[in-house]
Amino acid sequence: MSEKPLVIITGASSGIGAATSRLFSENGYPLLLLARRLEPMEALDLPNALCRAVDVCDLESFRDAITEAEERFGKAGCLVNNAGVMFCADPATQSVDEWQTMLDVNVRGLLNGIHLVLADMMARQTGTIVNIGSIAGVKTFPKHAVYCGTKFAVHAISETIRQEVSGSDVRLVTIAPGMVETDLVNASTDQAARDGWWDYANQIGGVLQPESIAQSILFAYQMPQSVCVREMVVCPTRQEP
Ligand code: NDP
Repeated sequence: MSEKPLVIITGASSGIGAATSRLFSENGYPLLLLARRLEPMEALDLPNALCRAVDVCDLESFRDAITEAEERFGKAGCLVNNAGVMFCADPATQSVDEWQTMLDVNVRGLLNGIHLVLADMMARQTGTIVNIGSIAGVKTFPKHAVYCGTKFAVHAISETIRQEVSGSDVRLVTIAPGMVETDLVNASTDQAARDGWWDYANQIGGVLQPESIAQSILFAYQMPQSVCVREMVVCPTRQEP
């Protein structure tokens, strides 16, 4: 068992999740790192980190990984629900499969995580769930209809549950990043949407590095348990929308 509580991070194989894994590790937390690709998580080479190839949509393998990590490191103090996908496109032509995948990973995957830790955190009267929303969960953007829909859902789910469990001293924190330099937008099959994202990023002199979001997550988590940072919107200063 470790002195510091276990921190579970989904989507730890790249971008914000990988940066958050490194920062929490530097701060002495034992980690459960989850994503579908195992090799990039193992390549982080972090001490006291259990890495498991888990699709967050698969509730049973998600549960098995948490059980294994809690047996090794003790009960989870924090879940960072970070795994997500974004496919930007014209809604008239975007494939329903892309819509479904965004709904599955961004909403159902996040709900799976909440389901797996919430009741136990409430019983223990402590714990923190950090849900990664988005500026696209606060306002809408062209070619982002379903992505915005999933992120508005994240904000609504997170805030509603926060209210309902506040009396159990369990915190729900929503972190809403603006533009961050990661692989996220590169999965879009719509080349114009991809190019538009990177053109705007260059036009404003670059966007956030994932480490800035990792710092925001750590800040919120390290506040005393009696302090709940309900929502943080963290954007590049020069990002206008
Ligand atoms: P990346 O594409 O770099 O990272 C996404 C992560 O999610 C990867 O580790 C990926 O791992 C994981 N993932 C995707 N699908 C699944 C799945 N089914 N099961 C488990 N893991 C999965 O993007 P970011 O780091 O930018 O994204 C992290 C979060 O930040 C997302 O929720 C995103 O919506 C949000 N965000 C990002 C912004 C940005 O500008 N970059 C802005 C606002 C919010 P693998 O492929 O190995 O499964």
